[in-house]
Amino acid sequence: MKKQVVLYKKLSPTLMTRLEEQAEVTLIDSLDAQGIAKLRAALPRAHGLLGASLKLDAELLDLAPNLQAIASVSVGVDNYDIDYLTERGILLTNTPDVLTETTADTGFALILATARRVVELANIVRAGLWQRNIGSAHFGTDVHGKTLGIIGMGRIGEALAQRGHFGFGMPVIYHSHSPKPAVEQRFGAQYRSLPQLLQEADFVCLTLPLTAETEGLIGAQQFAQMRPETIFINISRGKVVDEKALIEALRSEQIRAAGLDVFEREPLNPDSPLLQLDNVVATPHIGSATHETREAMARCAVENLLAALAGERPANLVNGRAWKA
Ligand code: NAP
Repeated sequence: MKKQVVLYKKLSPTLMTRLEEQAEVTLIDSLDAQGIAKLRAALPRAHGLLGASLKLDAELLDLAPNLQAIASVSVGVDNYDIDYLTERGILLTNTPDVLTETTADTGFALILATARRVVELANIVRAGLWQRNIGSAHFGTDVHGKTLGIIGMGRIGEALAQRGHFGFGMPVIYHSHSPKPAVEQRFGAQYRSLPQLLQEADFVCLTLPLTAETEGLIGAQQFAQMRPETIFINISRGKVVDEKALIEALRSEQIRAAGLDVFEREPLNPDSPLLQLDNVVATPHIGSATHETREAMARCAVENLLAALAGERPANLVNGRAWKA
């Protein structure tokens, strides 16, 4: 008998066919109240779940006694209680690697957009307010040759370092749990303590996961260690940053600008003070959002789930302790 899969993210026809060859699929096509009600009704039968952008807590998962695996269409796994899943023997998989380059591209888009004030100045043109050559009040700041500071030197951090080093001649400094000799060799990157990095970097870029340890890692004290020239970029998770402290740092010109793809609460409230500030470039969590990469992530998740349901160890198993051959 085919296994039951609850899908809470739409797949391309090719991937849907691939999944349906092996499993009976229930599609939840939106995560509004009606969709959640449909999900709750489907959970008691589910052997596998596949999707993203939904906090799957114990209250919800207790409705799924037969659940064997969850395939997240993301690399970040902060929406899951990994200890709870492991205790229940539920395998959790993610989609690393396939989104690394695209997310680093997004990081660099934010670096360039904030430094060169691309959105703010493009809006002036669009509003018909470009009436003479712009003056120094609208000048930006250079990116090339500036110091790139990366907090979290993992896959995405490394891809950002590669762009900065080879593309823009930027000295790279980084902070991580541990030094990365290979990265130091390839990009001339240098390890720094967190306070040292915050003081030295022209661009402070967050590329670490949201964990109990990193939640609120960057707050008032850390913004105070940055310089008025610092540009702050977050492509990791919103909750790594104390957003109130960020707003205050921007308002008081403790830092120059911020490029933000992620927020404490998403979607960002249209009334957020962040959106009143010209020196903020805000994007709607688009780190991996290209046609090619989202398809590659979905494919990766489908293969992970099918492997898990077939009793094989999936390629991207997050909670190895839950694995029993
Ligand atoms: P990764 O390869 O696991 O890299 C994360 C790095 O963060 C690791 O190198 C780790 O250092 C470091 N780190 C973890 N906790 C730390 C701490 N407390 N202090 C200092 N460094 C710490 O993950 P990745 O694939 O690069 O992805 C990173 C994160 O980016 C994801 O978890 C996700 O939240 C976010 N992301 C966002 C988007 C988006 O759409 N904006 C897209 C993709 C990913 P060690 O290696 O030394 O342990």
